[in-house]
Amino acid sequence: MFSLEPVKLFLLCGMLAAVAAPSLSTTPMLHRGAAPDETFRDLRTGKALEWLTKNASWATDEQVRITEIPAPPFHEGQRAAHLRRLLSCCSLSVRVDELGNVIAERRGEVRDVVMLTAHLDTVFPAGTNIRVRRESGRLYAPGISDNGTGLATLAAVARALNEGKLKTRMTVVFAADVGEEGEGNLRGMRKLVESYGSRLKYVIALDGSSTDHVTNAALASRRVEVTITGPGGHSWSDFGTPNPIHALSRGLARFVKVRVPDEPRTTFNVGEIEGGTSVNSIPYRASIKVDLRSASQPEIDRLEATLRESIEAGVAEEMTAARERGMANHNGVKLETQFRVLGIRPGGELPEDSPLLAALREADRFLENRSRPERSSTDANIPLSLGMQAISIGGGGHAAGAHSLGEWYDPAGRELGLQRVLLTLLGVAGLEPLRSK
Ligand SMILES: [Zn+2]
Repeated sequence: MFSLEPVKLFLLCGMLAAVAAPSLSTTPMLHRGAAPDETFRDLRTGKALEWLTKNASWATDEQVRITEIPAPPFHEGQRAAHLRRLLSCCSLSVRVDELGNVIAERRGEVRDVVMLTAHLDTVFPAGTNIRVRRESGRLYAPGISDNGTGLATLAAVARALNEGKLKTRMTVVFAADVGEEGEGNLRGMRKLVESYGSRLKYVIALDGSSTDHVTNAALASRRVEVTITGPGGHSWSDFGTPNPIHALSRGLARFVKVRVPDEPRTTFNVGEIEGGTSVNSIPYRASIKVDLRSASQPEIDRLEATLRESIEAGVAEEMTAARERGMANHNGVKLETQFRVLGIRPGGELPEDSPLLAALREADRFLENRSRPERSSTDANIPLSLGMQAISIGGGGHAAGAHSLGEWYDPAGRELGLQRVLLTLLGVAGLEPLRSK
């Protein structure tokens, strides 16, 4: 998926610049083909970029330390404490909010906020072996890239701003947030967006490693659990009693025939099914978990409505069968259906003329990086769904196997990602003009 070309180019440019510029303090390691942007060309920016290049291995060492601190869903505290220490540098005021988000503020000229975030949690349960194994340049461990890279990048960029003595126009907030994965349901980001309110102008969520994309559209998803309960009974003597598994099957047979559009892409998946206690008992309970996704919010709503109608029709059909078998409507014999929404990730999209997207593209041009827009489910879903400016990007390097035990990370060329994050951040935060001496 990742194109190697830009990385090679970048490294080459870096080397050329280093050769051509012996005095790095006055000629920072900038890259050819740079956009004529004053912020990017500012000497202070140059110092920060140079610091990132020189300290890429610091970021990698820190990434290993972070990855080896467990952060299963809803148990991010230990890792949060580490991030709190890491961010307690560089004249940042750090606090932890009541949900466990670590928040570090860097005052700007104005109160408006650009927020750089990285989620703390992993999908791996407590007890998973998360020791990092190094093998021929690669680092292997569950969570090493998702979101070890994001968190290490967050810490590195915070330091680089300090090293460059950069004074930004907007206030920069660094946040290591909880609850991005699965049933965490983006609770950390929801809280951050709520607490900063109208001050929050831009959100840049660091997730994973790859620099070949920018997530500028949020994939909407909804997860629903459907549970049907009934009286249960003996398979022989109570035959005809409404059966929750039969009812669910009747409903599902209807639902899975639903037509979904290719455009906007819309998908559904019945991912879990359970119920019953033994082969010769009429079950008293059956349930399913269903994942609904779409590039369009109304399609999700439509799909969920179809699911409900299908299940209700299935239950009605099962009740009709029970009546025909003479077993329903005696002593309140009936089925109950319960729908429970397990998680909602709202959708949204960044407009083409977004200043944040423009800043990212300028950074890409400056660094000669190529990236394509992508729709995905990330922390950026929350601000995007509220019509706010947000993107999600990788922190640099290469990785594969996210959410699997075989996940790996290769830090080669990670400085490109680090610099891309810094420049995008500065592109929207803006620099305070240098006061003449
Ligand atoms: Zn992630």
